[in-house]
Amino acid sequence: MIVTLKTGVKKTEIDEVLAKIKELGFTPELSKGTEKIVIGVIGEGNRAIAYRNVFESMEQIETVTPISKPYKMVSREFKKTDTRIDFDGFSIGGKNIIVMAGPCSVDTRDNLLRVAKELKKMGAHILRGGAFKPRTSPYAFQGLGEEALRYLAEARKATGMPFVTEVMDTRQVELLERYADIYQVGARNAQNFELLKELGSSRKPVLLKRGMATTVEEWLMSAEYVVAKGNPNVILCERGIRTFETATRFTLDLNAVPVLKHLSHLPVFVDPSHGVGVRDYIAPMARAAIAAGADGIIVEVHPNPATALSDAHQALLPVHMAQLMKELRGIAAAVGREL
Ligand code: PEP
Ligand code: MN
Repeated sequence: MIVTLKTGVKKTEIDEVLAKIKELGFTPELSKGTEKIVIGVIGEGNRAIAYRNVFESMEQIETVTPISKPYKMVSREFKKTDTRIDFDGFSIGGKNIIVMAGPCSVDTRDNLLRVAKELKKMGAHILRGGAFKPRTSPYAFQGLGEEALRYLAEARKATGMPFVTEVMDTRQVELLERYADIYQVGARNAQNFELLKELGSSRKPVLLKRGMATTVEEWLMSAEYVVAKGNPNVILCERGIRTFETATRFTLDLNAVPVLKHLSHLPVFVDPSHGVGVRDYIAPMARAAIAAGADGIIVEVHPNPATALSDAHQALLPVHMAQLMKELRGIAAAVGREL
């Protein structure tokens, strides 16, 4: 349930509402908009509804609105305005389209520094690179671990680009907290609830990929785990779902973009690389993602795909990525955005 306060309420009046919420055994979540102050009354299930009258009779409260969804704080009902994550001099979820790009996994220092410099030159904002890789086969390359994090930190220093990297387990959080700028939660961990709760204690943004068999509602509940634990900086990332179709690696569900924009205030990204898994189809789907209203994309780029140790056949060459950036600029402008 959310309560909306009357315009112009004083601090003491806000405190009274907060105290009442706590007295009844709920957790208050304050959200100050430009015009209105709303407070989420968070408790198990829909227990808060029973106290609707109590809140309606309080002087300083204008309206009481039950939230019928199983997720609360990430819902559009809780917060009407888009969440913007201000970060390292730019804003995720604002007018500007943000591009994350880099290799699937960090393999050599040389390759990483090379690609990072090229990406910076073409105007990408955030470097991606896996240090811990979730591989389907236990015999496939598992990532360079901390060595990769050192290379990523070096690339950040050389280019000024922050980096996003995947966290697979709660035991990796302590190490990654020291290196990473943005946590990536992969499709295979989209419902690793202990991990999501742990990331709720961080203030670093979390790029939350959609599970390959996760509904939009389940995905938003995953996001709720992070936000409810105290970290509001969640970015949702569509990366393709499992369907009967085998022509592409997954089926990129671009429907999810407007659906999420309707249901939630969180920024929405699209990962066309995993969504299609075929080099030639990535650019068209990246273009479609921006046209559909995504706030950004994450794309795999490798300076020499033939030697890449994971996802080689979906890696774009830097020259392809530079061309895509140009095309995306035109599409961004056509939909009232900037890149
Ligand atoms: C990745 O980004 O390399 C990755 C493994 O993505 P996903 O979790 O979406 O499969
Ligand atoms: Mn990959």
